[in-house]
Amino acid sequence: MKIRTKLILSMSVLLVFILLFLLAVTHIQFYISRDYAYREDKAVFEALRQEFERYYAEHGGSWEQVGAAEFKRTRGFAEVLLYVDGVPLYRQGRLGVDELRNEGYKLAIFSGERKVGRLYVMNDKQYKTYEFKKMWYGILPAIGRASLLFTCAAALLTIFLLSWRLTRPIRRIIQGIEGVKKGARDVSFPVRRKDEFGAISRALRDMNESLANAERARKQLLSDVAHELRTPLMIIQGELELVQETGDTLSPAKQSSILDEVLRLSRLVNEVLDLSKLEAGMNELRPEPENLAALLEDVAEKTRFLAEDKQILLTIHGAEDEILVKAEKPRILQALYNLLTNAVYYTNSGGRIQVSLDREWHPDKHQQYARIRIEDSGVGISAADLPHIFDRFYRADHARARPTGGTGLGLAIAQQNVLVHQGWIDVQSEAGQGSVFTVYLPIHPSSSEPKGKNLHP
Ligand code: ADP
Repeated sequence: MKIRTKLILSMSVLLVFILLFLLAVTHIQFYISRDYAYREDKAVFEALRQEFERYYAEHGGSWEQVGAAEFKRTRGFAEVLLYVDGVPLYRQGRLGVDELRNEGYKLAIFSGERKVGRLYVMNDKQYKTYEFKKMWYGILPAIGRASLLFTCAAALLTIFLLSWRLTRPIRRIIQGIEGVKKGARDVSFPVRRKDEFGAISRALRDMNESLANAERARKQLLSDVAHELRTPLMIIQGELELVQETGDTLSPAKQSSILDEVLRLSRLVNEVLDLSKLEAGMNELRPEPENLAALLEDVAEKTRFLAEDKQILLTIHGAEDEILVKAEKPRILQALYNLLTNAVYYTNSGGRIQVSLDREWHPDKHQQYARIRIEDSGVGISAADLPHIFDRFYRADHARARPTGGTGLGLAIAQQNVLVHQGWIDVQSEAGQGSVFTVYLPIHPSSSEPKGKNLHP
């Protein structure tokens, strides 16, 4: 059933209830006002009752001739009926006996303890209210029919307008979704509304924004990759065209420059592939308990010759005890390798690099973390570059190219590798003051406790 149909049905039922309620109110109101009139003029009612009781007593306990008698108290009453044992004995007024018995106010007549008759009365006020009720009942069917027609028409119109208004946000939301489907840029949802439609709209707007961001990032990545591929390809193409044009053979220097570019290309392609797999969470993590000190030694071994080439002093301080992390070895190795080779690359000859491993308790996470600090005395990173260094293809100094050419993907890959292990990387650096990269990884519970110091609270 459509929302509009449901609304029309429920409003119609409501209308019928309102009419029935009005009828009931009129009915009840008459009886209330009838009793209220008695309470207001109680003395007059009681005087009338006493006059009839006196008549009964003065006529030797009999109602004989009462129909022709004169009662002076009846003057203030529009209707008076004396009813004894099913027979009307005295009557004043215009209403029928049964009508008055149903609608009049009842007063019992006593002789001592014995009830000897009943008076049905209406004073002028009560009679007027009764007339109003009768009139209301008389014209009610006509009013009812006319007003029913009128209210139904008005209600239908109102319901139509109301339902049109109520369903407007739904139509706007549907329009918005259609817009998104067609790829429109400026899609508007009724986000300012305070009701559920507003909440849906905000959720849709956010979803649309994050989809648009993802799409932008995808396009950006594509153009970045194309841009990165172009330079080495152009160099290779230029060298080969020159050889073709001149017919010369390639000098060993040219050969090695082409090989450098090819290596750079293949590293770039591998890193882009690595990163996109990591970001898409494509490879399921198969972690094993790994000894971090051993992993660090492994990475240091691979980078030591690079450091020695630049006369950089590389020192490693392992933890006193074994620190195990649950990790996929190649990923952690890749993260540490990227950080350590960066430290070497961005440290001038004669500098130093210190790597240390220890543990740290994080009360907010209720978890102990392994902390690997890679501190270098290198060129440092300016405050303007610092927030961006983990972005893909970001290089603080675009003019500086490494001998093999930095891709600007190393830190992004390192960070993704650490993130998939529920860790994170911190960086502290200032231009010219060296840098400290700190990797945090959750410690595997089976690690041995640190000797002599208790890091658990
Ligand atoms: P790249 O391939 O250019 O090294 P990365 O993603 O590894 O790309 O690093 C991004 C940028 O962060 C680098 O271009 C460099 O400017 C800066 N950076 C990274 N590590 C260091 C470091 N240890 N010292 C100074 N700058 C660094």
